Amino acid sequence: MKINSIKGFADILPGDVESWHFVEEKAREVFARYSFFEIRIPIVEKTELFSRSLGETTDIVEKEMYTFPDQDAKGSLLTLRPEGTAGVARAYLEAELYKVEPVRKLFYLGPMFRRERPQKGRLRQFYQIGAEVLGRPDPLVDAEVLLLLRDFFSLVGLEGATLELNSLGDVQCRPGYRKALLAFLKEREKKLCANCQRRMERNPLRVLDCKEESCVEVTRDAPSILDYLCDDCRAHFGVVQRLLRDSELDYQLNPRIVRGLDYYCRTAFEWTSARLGSQNAVAAGGRYDGLVEDLGGPPTPGVGFAIGMERLVLLLEMKEARQAPRLTLFLVWVGDAGRAWAFSAAHRLRQRGIAVEMEGEQKSLKSQMRRADKLGASYVLIVGEEELGRGTVVLRNMDTKEQSELALDRLEDELLARRVGG
Ligand SMILES: [Zn+2]
Ligand SMILES: [Zn+2]
Repeated sequence: MKINSIKGFADILPGDVESWHFVEEKAREVFARYSFFEIRIPIVEKTELFSRSLGETTDIVEKEMYTFPDQDAKGSLLTLRPEGTAGVARAYLEAELYKVEPVRKLFYLGPMFRRERPQKGRLRQFYQIGAEVLGRPDPLVDAEVLLLLRDFFSLVGLEGATLELNSLGDVQCRPGYRKALLAFLKEREKKLCANCQRRMERNPLRVLDCKEESCVEVTRDAPSILDYLCDDCRAHFGVVQRLLRDSELDYQLNPRIVRGLDYYCRTAFEWTSARLGSQNAVAAGGRYDGLVEDLGGPPTPGVGFAIGMERLVLLLEMKEARQAPRLTLFLVWVGDAGRAWAFSAAHRLRQRGIAVEMEGEQKSLKSQMRRADKLGASYVLIVGEEELGRGTVVLRNMDTKEQSELALDRLEDELLARRVGG
């Protein structure tokens, strides 16, 4: 019986995985330039880490988490991580990173899990590249992570991504906005979708995030958070915007960006691409000054983002397919002596860093040459009893079709020289 993968969980096969490598490589490059260090956090955490940090009324906690009983601790639950920020904050606290150096710039990459309706560019196991800066309240660092993202997008060749920016205020000013928004929504309650009606009281900002046509329509004239910012938040947001303008990073203000999660405050942003349709964010993030404290740590400001790998790769693949790395050499052999020689030669050459492949069973010359072609080998070496007896082999350049004779004992050095020489 054939067993298939489960809905929303996908393989990344050779041929596709090269685009992923490319993106990951460029991410590491840009993170190094901005002095970010990698952190690897577990895929499974205690459920309360997410319910406490993300907020009980968020879609993620309400219905999207993969949660199961911990068989080692009766009554407690474990969850496959639905996002990375909570785990990074937990690790920062657990290792007491703040005691040595309170400012930490961290990045991570890996799979996240949410039980959402699968669609193009959105899977249940999906991959994120994320970054968190812990310990810096200043607006410079908000601007810095946005510039980092712009540099990253330009490094991978993503064009036409737009930055949308908002400020969500803080504990000083958000309650006032929340009240005004709730009053506005209550007057129009009947027109909201059932979901929004249900959670409106507890989390009115989420209504602005709702993609239902009726809710988008109702909230078109909703009060804007930007009109309710206190002086501190207004000044902070002002500096972020000035720094972006100084660095010629274009942005649009979008007071509808509320981010799904409770822990966000002040700067919130999304990078979108019109080519992705309605699920159009390719990266999103913002400031979350209260999170570390909520998790039992010292007051620690934070700002971060996550890039959706599937969507980014999709956008890049629309532009160009990335080639798998080419095989350097294919060894074509004839006879038992040819096979024995080829097997040990392949091993020696691989040890010296050359990518080599060969057949394991006797095949016709023609079939071996076809395989070499399929693998994209740059060179083919033909070895039979006769060649071994003579002490020379014929090396064929598969691009130029040139053939040259090489002494067997000089083979490794010759190949290395050619490869280095291009
Ligand atoms: Zn709604
Ligand atoms: Zn404020």
